[in-house]
Formats: sequence, C-alpha cells, structure tokens
Amino acid sequence: MVHFNLLKLSFRIQACFLMLLCIPLAGCVGIRFSQESAIVTRAQMQMGTLVKITAVARNESVAHSAATAGFAEIRRLEEILSTWIQTSELSRVNASAGLKPVSVSPETMTVVQGAIQVAEMTDGGFNITIGPAVDAWNVIEGRRIPTESELESLRPLVNLQAVHADVKKQTIFLEKTGMRIDVGGIGKGYAADQAVIAMKKAGALAGVVALSGDIKTFGELPGGRKFPVGIQHPRKEGEVLVFIDLEDEAISTAGDYERFFERDGVRYHHILDPKTLQPARSCQAVTVIAREGIWADGLDTGIFVMGAELGMHLVEALPDVEAIIVDHEGMVHVSSGLRDRIRKP
Ligand code: ADP
Ligand code: MG
Repeated sequence: MVHFNLLKLSFRIQACFLMLLCIPLAGCVGIRFSQESAIVTRAQMQMGTLVKITAVARNESVAHSAATAGFAEIRRLEEILSTWIQTSELSRVNASAGLKPVSVSPETMTVVQGAIQVAEMTDGGFNITIGPAVDAWNVIEGRRIPTESELESLRPLVNLQAVHADVKKQTIFLEKTGMRIDVGGIGKGYAADQAVIAMKKAGALAGVVALSGDIKTFGELPGGRKFPVGIQHPRKEGEVLVFIDLEDEAISTAGDYERFFERDGVRYHHILDPKTLQPARSCQAVTVIAREGIWADGLDTGIFVMGAELGMHLVEALPDVEAIIVDHEGMVHVSSGLRDRIRKP
C-alpha cells in the first residue's frame, strides 16, 4: 500500500518537473550547467512524502550545500509540526487538549495563525481542527465509511473557535478534551517557503522545493528561463492538464485523486468538508499559485471545500493569488491573471 502511494507521489513529481527533466539533469547527480552556474537535483522522503529539491548556484559544491540546507530545514519543521511524531510541538498541543496551554515555537505559531486566517478567507472551508474526523475516515488505511452517529459525536471537536493561539505568551490551547489540530493541509507549503530561505542563505541563486504537489520556486534557471511546472490531470493519470512557468512563486494542488478509495461507485478522499465531515464534493482538483507556499497550500484545500464559484470569487479578490479549479463535473476554471500564462500540453 505504501509502495503504491509512493509510486503515485513520485509520478506526480515527475509530471511536475517534466520540462525541467528535459534538460539532462536528474537523480542525485550535480551537473555543471555553464561556466558560471551549476544545478543539482536531489530527492528524499520527508513529511510523509517525496521531497525534491533543485538548487542553482555558482558551483556544484554550493548547489549541494544549498540542497542539504533545504532538506535540513524541512526535517527541522517536521519535528516541530508533524502529528505523526509524538514529541512534536503539535502532538504536545493535542495531548494537552482540555488541560493546559502549551508553549510553542514562532514557526508553529505562524502556521497555526496562517491556518486561522485561511479559515476566515475560505468561510470555514479550511479548518485545522478537522483531525478527529480525518482519523475516523482514515482514507489511506481504513477504507471504511464512518457512521453518521460516529461523525456526529466528533462534531463538537471540530471547532476553530476553541483553538486559542496566544501570540504574546506564544502558547496554544485547545479548549476541549479530544480536540486535535492537523496542519496537513498547509504545513508542506510553509515548509517549502522556509526551505527556500535556508537555500538562499546557503548561497543558492535559484531553485525549486517540491513536497509532492506543494512547490516553491525562486530565481531563474541558468539562461534566464523560468521554472516550468506541469499540473496533473485529476482524472487521467500521468497526463498534464496545463503547464505554467513560475518565477518566485509557490504552487500547490489539492486533489481527490491521490488518496482515496471507492465504494459502490462513490469516491471517498482525504479532504473533508468541515460542515458535513464528509469528503468535499465540489471539486476534483484545485491548484493555487501565490507568492508564499503557506497561502498556496492553505488556500488549495480551503477552496476545494468552497467549490469553484465561491473559490474563484475569492481568488479574484486576493492580490497575487491565481488558481485553476477543476470542478466536480471536470470543467476547468482559470483565474483572470493566469489565462495568458498557461500552456496546453
Ligand atoms: P496533500 O498535498 O497532502 O494532499 P492538501 O493540501 O490537499 O494536502 O490537504 C489535505 C490534508 O489536509 C488532509 O490529509 C488532512 O490532513 C487535512 N485536511 C482535510 N480536510 C481539511 C480541511 N477541510 N481543512 C484543513 N485541513 C484539512
Ligand atoms: Mg493544502
């Protein structure tokens, strides 16, 4: 099962970097690109997904150091934010639900506050207190449909108002016993942002950090080209829906096609509507482009729940945010700022 998922994940990454890979540089090999710059691409498993980092620097050794710095930063954030790691800050916050506030690092505070902001923007479509319902569905391993009464009993726990993030004291307190926060819908975008900062500090001139479908780019490829990224078709495995060139931008996709199971012709996937606690039904895929990964990642999940019409309305109102939304019928909606930028395969 894990193997199966891994294959799918790595496939999506390959689709994302299709164009990059056309330039002969793959795997863990650093290749001198020109007199002035080198480019290195490396991949490893982090945050439960395949992370791929490309670094452009003045020489191969600096490019490798920058990639290493990017991976190290993601590892550091994983140890703080992952709810799969019992000693993480968020695991401690969750374990203290209903008991006491827990001191957290500025990074955890930033992600949780960002998540609260995205929740407001998406009219509650994005909700990090969804954790208990995500566990009840356990789409990856469980393949079971929770009963209505089971979901009903979890309803009081899915309540963002009961999350108290105190910026002055740098603490987070979850009011009710059994509550849990899960930043799975926003954390990878934030990690990509932070990895880029670490890579720049280590001397990278340009690069890409991709945590599965959460990708952040900075600078330009040698020769002044932007970073081309392919967006996966939600219903045709391995097919690219559109290509887009990115420059100092993040792109993130939330879809119903990667983690799901089917029962009696109905698709059950991992993005839940906080109002119904059922898998959200309005979209097949939502891709958001923003300056920062934290917003691209948070918004893709929130807009997936909101649906194409309300979601596109929100995107058009936000500066520096663009989107491609594939609605539940497979209709593709492209925001006004992107129409001249996308290329069909
Ligand atoms: P991924 O790239 O891992 O598919 P997404 O950005 O699509 O991530 O977010 C999906 C994850 O977010 C789920 O696995 C779950 O942990 C969490 N999640 C599911 N529904 C919601 C929701 N409505 N609001 C916030 N987080 C959610
Ligand atoms: Mg997301």
